[in-house]
Amino acid sequence: MKKIILSFFLFISILTLRAVNPADISILNMIPGDTIPLSLDEDELMDFNDSLVSFPAYDLYCGWDTVNIHAAKFDVSCLKDSTKNILLYSENSCGYVHPFEGKITSSFGPRKRRYHYGVDIDLETGDCVAAAFDGRVRIVKKSKSYGNVIVIRHSSGLETYYAHLSQLNVEIGQEVFAGQVIGLGGNTGRSRGSHLHFEVRYMGQPINPSQLISFDQHKLISDTLTISSNTFSYLAEAKKAAAKNAHSKGKGRVHVVKKGDTLSAIARKYGTTTKALCQKNGLKSTSKLRLGQKIRT
Ligand SMILES: [Zn+2]
Repeated sequence: MKKIILSFFLFISILTLRAVNPADISILNMIPGDTIPLSLDEDELMDFNDSLVSFPAYDLYCGWDTVNIHAAKFDVSCLKDSTKNILLYSENSCGYVHPFEGKITSSFGPRKRRYHYGVDIDLETGDCVAAAFDGRVRIVKKSKSYGNVIVIRHSSGLETYYAHLSQLNVEIGQEVFAGQVIGLGGNTGRSRGSHLHFEVRYMGQPINPSQLISFDQHKLISDTLTISSNTFSYLAEAKKAAAKNAHSKGKGRVHVVKKGDTLSAIARKYGTTTKALCQKNGLKSTSKLRLGQKIRT
């Protein structure tokens, strides 16, 4: 019996010692999902920093997002009257190669329903699509609207998008050169008929590709692109088009009044005005709304 009691106390003391082991405490304190290694030696730290620096235009974007298609949009109002000249390719690069030499079927600009932020180039499914400049592949994914899409970031800070592809030939992080076949043209995503949707963006903001590329001659207009507030002057037009679209979407629909609804809030929701709602429904702007009341928009 003595022996049993002694072994029991020995077992308990071992358990207590384990519980206060400092190594265990440090593991317990780690944040779940934290991937920072406990220690990095100097060489490893150098590799880590070098790998970040080698991403094109890392200083400009301060990051490398391989999940979200669009980079965070920069505030164009910050440009004010300033201009910025961007060298589109460096001397020791492969320069520019037209992604696909086809006819333009839709240009950058307003469309019936939404603003078109790229240029559509006609092609057949299976045609080779090339990278426009040297760069590194940031996005390779399937999206609802873009279909199979590739986004490449270039040293100039520009990003080029290649959408509706039928085949993706590159991987995230892969370095590519201008003219390299990155995928095959197709009709995936929100697309009617095979074509390449080609987009150019600078820090998330779309740029009309025709400002830098001649789509008739399949070459660059200049090796430099000047960015100013003028480059993004289309944004006001795009905003108007979006408001108009919201208005036409809401037109003719019936809104059932819920708790907290006001005429002005309903008007905002359907892209219309309080005055228009009053006229349509025989109301005054001061009229009290009833729960369940039907308002024609
Ligand atoms: Zn398009």
